[in-house]
Amino acid sequence: MIPALSDVHEDLSALVRDFCEREIAPHTADWDRTHHVPVPVLRQLGDLGVLGVIIPEEHGGAGLDYTALCLVVEELARHDAGLSVAVAVHGGLCAAPLLRFGSPEQQARYLPRLASGELLGAYALTEPDAGSDTAAIRAQAVLDDGQWRLDGTKTWITNGGFADFFVLFARTGGGGAKGVSAFVSTRAEGLGSSHEIPKLGLHTSSTAEVVLDGFRVAADDLLGVRDDGLKIALATLDGGRITIAAQACGIARAALDLACRYAADRHAFGGPIARFQGVQFPIADISARLEGARLLMLRAAALRSAGKPHGLAGAQAKLIASRVAVDAADVAVQTLGGYGYSAEFGAERLYRDAKITELYEGTSQIQRLVIARHLLGAAARG
Ligand SMILES: Cc1cc2nc3c(=O)[nH]c(=O)nc-3n(C[C@H](O)[C@H](O)[C@H](O)COP(=O)(O)OP(=O)(O)OC[C@H]3O[C@@H](n4cnc5c(N)ncnc54)[C@H](O)[C@@H]3O)c2cc1C
Repeated sequence: MIPALSDVHEDLSALVRDFCEREIAPHTADWDRTHHVPVPVLRQLGDLGVLGVIIPEEHGGAGLDYTALCLVVEELARHDAGLSVAVAVHGGLCAAPLLRFGSPEQQARYLPRLASGELLGAYALTEPDAGSDTAAIRAQAVLDDGQWRLDGTKTWITNGGFADFFVLFARTGGGGAKGVSAFVSTRAEGLGSSHEIPKLGLHTSSTAEVVLDGFRVAADDLLGVRDDGLKIALATLDGGRITIAAQACGIARAALDLACRYAADRHAFGGPIARFQGVQFPIADISARLEGARLLMLRAAALRSAGKPHGLAGAQAKLIASRVAVDAADVAVQTLGGYGYSAEFGAERLYRDAKITELYEGTSQIQRLVIARHLLGAAARG
């Protein structure tokens, strides 16, 4: 499948780009330096209609496809990687599973408020002892007086410090992969954000530990089928990682643009450094690899939009795009020389931000595992 972008897609990218240039770009460096999470900007994105791109019009969204969500994330990531992952999680990990697995009542209750930005979403799967090994989660959900009572600790939760809406995973049956259920709920007593986790980059993103302490969820806020939650979690991540590939493409584009601008402006030995082959070739390599990564990302998004299998394509896109982002940020720092290492031009921020794309929603090793299992089937499991 060769992905093609429509006028609606191009217009959406232009709308987000224009918003970023006005409302985000002037503040990015400052927000990064002060570790400021600009929640009001996320609500503004709700007003702009960007938080509901994949939500059907009947629920207050734009009714667009998954490609549209990826383009929004990519454009935001060119300006602020932290804001881009907030939107990726809100759309790809919160609205998307509600659309796929939610009951009509759950969809009517939550989707319009997610589309408008009244509710900002978080996805709480990871625990201190369960990251790649999702089947090891320990949080418990027990039925108590007609409601679910959830106890446990979730860690590394994007948007966790401020989110009003959560997709949560907890154990309702025995051990292992079977016996985990998914829940949706708004924040209430018993769900607390204990602390923000200090991190290398992504300083404009809230990454919090979320503690469930007798958190009560209505019986009808179980998402999908009881004990089938891990399937929901993994199917959701199959799509979510396409948005991370889009984030990686956005970061790589920002790095490439910065390197090109600087190479043309900076003079050494009597002319612009852009005339040196040693400066040109890394830029040329990144440019070619980025176009390839972007096609993979758009292809995976098109498959997801068409309702076709996209687990393999999404893993391939994230694996390649995240490495391009890391390498592109490295090329930007190298091209800027000492100024690349300073906070003045933003190359060092891109360098810190890029790395996360190889870690969350499945590390690069886990993407390779997903790809190998698609290709090798049962033989890959031993
Ligand atoms: C900034 C940030 C935001 C995040 N946001 C969220 C969020 O919103 N919601 C959420 O639920 N989680 C979130 N996460 C968690 C993230 O998805 C996990 O950190 C990630 O899946 C890796 O899990 P882990 O950190 O426990 O590493 P581990 O699973 O302990 O892995 C450690 C190392 O072992 C390797 N490894 C593990 N298993 C295998 C294997 N089978 N084969 C080969 N290598 C293997 C890994 O690749 C890695 O290199 C976030 C993480 C970060 C850092």
